[in-house]
Amino acid sequence: VAVVNDNHLIRKNLALAYNIMAHLGLDDHTYTHLSSRAAEGDAFFIYPFGLRYDEVTTDSLMKVKFDGTVLEGNEYQYNKTGYVIHGAIYEARKDLNHVFHTHTVNGVAVSSMKQGLMPISQWALHLYDGVAYHDYDSLALDDSQGNRLISDLGNKFAMLMRNHGALTAGRTIHEALFYAYHLEKACIAQCLALSSGAELILPPKEVCEKTVKDLLGFEKDLGLRDWNAWVRLVKPSSLFNSKAA
Ligand SMILES: [Zn+2]
Repeated sequence: VAVVNDNHLIRKNLALAYNIMAHLGLDDHTYTHLSSRAAEGDAFFIYPFGLRYDEVTTDSLMKVKFDGTVLEGNEYQYNKTGYVIHGAIYEARKDLNHVFHTHTVNGVAVSSMKQGLMPISQWALHLYDGVAYHDYDSLALDDSQGNRLISDLGNKFAMLMRNHGALTAGRTIHEALFYAYHLEKACIAQCLALSSGAELILPPKEVCEKTVKDLLGFEKDLGLRDWNAWVRLVKPSSLFNSKAA
C-alpha cells in the first residue's frame, strides 16, 4: 500500500472523497466530517463546518493541528467536536491516514441495535470481526471523549458509535471509502432483513472467518479500483489520470 506524501494530492483526494460521499448519499448536510493526515504527520485536513460535501474543493479545506489549532483556511464556526475525534485518532493510530465520520439513517439504526452489525450479507462480511463499538455520551467536546474513542477503536478500521453514527478509517483514502461504502450497504441490508420479520440465515462462523480473509485479500490495494471508478463518476475529466494511491 503506497501512502501519499504530497499535501497537494492529499487535499485533492480528500475533496474528491467529500464529493463522492455526497454522490453516494453518505453525507448528513453540514454535519459529520472526513479528514486526511497531512504529509507532515502532525496535522490533518478537514472541511470547514458549514459547507456541504458536494461544495468541497481542494482550496476550501482547512489544515488543523491535533490540539485543534487551525493552521490554514477559514471556518464558519469552530467545530471542536470534529477536531477532538480526528486529532485523537491520528495521534494514537500512526497507521491511519484517513478518518471518515458518518451519520446515515441505516448506520445509526444498526448502531442502536444490541447485536451490532450482523454477518447476514457479503457487505457485512467485509467487516466480520472488524467493527468496534463506542457508547454514546453527548457531543465529543472534551479530551476524555477522545481517549475513550481510541481505546474503543483499538486496532480496527470501523466503529459503530452507538445512537450516533459510524467511523471508518484507512491507511489510504480508498481504503477508508471502501469500508464506509460496505458498512453502509451492510446496515441497509440488516435494517431491511430485520424489519421483514423473516427468520434469518447466518453463515457458519468458519465460513465468515474464511470469507473476510478472502474478501480483504482479493485486491492488493483495497478499494483502489472502486475509488477510480467513483472519481470518474464525480469528475469525469480526471478519468484515469487521478493517482489515488
Ligand atoms: Zn457525529
